[in-house]
Amino acid sequence: MTILDGKKTSADIKSEIAERVKELKAKGKKTPHLAAVIVGNDGASKTYVGAKVKACELVGFESTLVELPEETTEAALLAKIEELNTNDAIDGYIVQLPLPKHIDEHKVLLAVDATKDVDGFHPTNVGRMALELPTFLPATPYGIMELLERYQVPTSGKNVVVIGRSHIVGRPMSILMSQRRAAGDATVTVAHSRTENLKELTLNADIVVVALGVAEFLTGDMVKEGVTIIDVGITRIKDDSKKNGFRLAGDVHFESVAPKAEFITPVPGGVGPMTIAMLLKNTLLAGEQKS
Ligand code: NAD
Repeated sequence: MTILDGKKTSADIKSEIAERVKELKAKGKKTPHLAAVIVGNDGASKTYVGAKVKACELVGFESTLVELPEETTEAALLAKIEELNTNDAIDGYIVQLPLPKHIDEHKVLLAVDATKDVDGFHPTNVGRMALELPTFLPATPYGIMELLERYQVPTSGKNVVVIGRSHIVGRPMSILMSQRRAAGDATVTVAHSRTENLKELTLNADIVVVALGVAEFLTGDMVKEGVTIIDVGITRIKDDSKKNGFRLAGDVHFESVAPKAEFITPVPGGVGPMTIAMLLKNTLLAGEQKS
């Protein structure tokens, strides 16, 4: 069994990016600049955004954190977005989701300039991804593809089951792995909350990408020997023995699944760190496209 080590791989990618930033600076070119917008006080969202900003500093990017109060109106947020769209100093930016309920998420994502949409959520970029045109791939699926590629996990002709059909993980994963590309050429099945014969599907899968957000959902009896497991889930479980009062659980019951797996991502230290590394990679791309 091989652990797909997202922590190490993301550190490798970050050093590659840091090298590139040094080269850009040496040539007198602009330093890539990422902005992150967060609305409200959600603890997990704040942690994620904080980690993204810290990662920017680590690779030598410039970063701007825009923190807006929970009661920010949709109009005020859209005005902020317009400001970021027209600010030439900012190469790319993200709007941390979820947004407060009174704000229409779709309207906000549509307002982001597609050339600065380093999360890859704008319909233009989703369309470009589906058509295999150069674009910003959404960071989590992009990170998973990179992990599979760097560990040379065989995907061509393999049966892949993606559990979850969200716009940010499941759906793009299913599109990417079915494409003719590195870590692609797979035969993909998308399972979701209405799927009736899930265990039958996963028992036949060479690779299972688990992204439903239910802690330890996938158990050892649901997979075959030699399977590759990508665990995307991150759920906070109350745990008084921890300093912060919770532990992180994936969507996979690691103890029962890992012994049957050829490759498996841990939680934490698997897909999570890769997501941040690929956001940085998209920001580098955005910066290089402008300079
Ligand atoms: P989501 O809630 O938007 O979507 C969940 C999907 O799971 C839905 O499509 C639903 O149909 C499906 N589903 C729910 N119950 C099911 C069941 N019993 N059987 C089969 N399918 C079922 O979730 P999301 O935004 O894709 O996130 C999924 C998980 O991944 C969450 O735990 C989230 O925190 C985590 N996540 C991690 C990263 C990362 O960087 N590691 C990034 C994004 C999301």
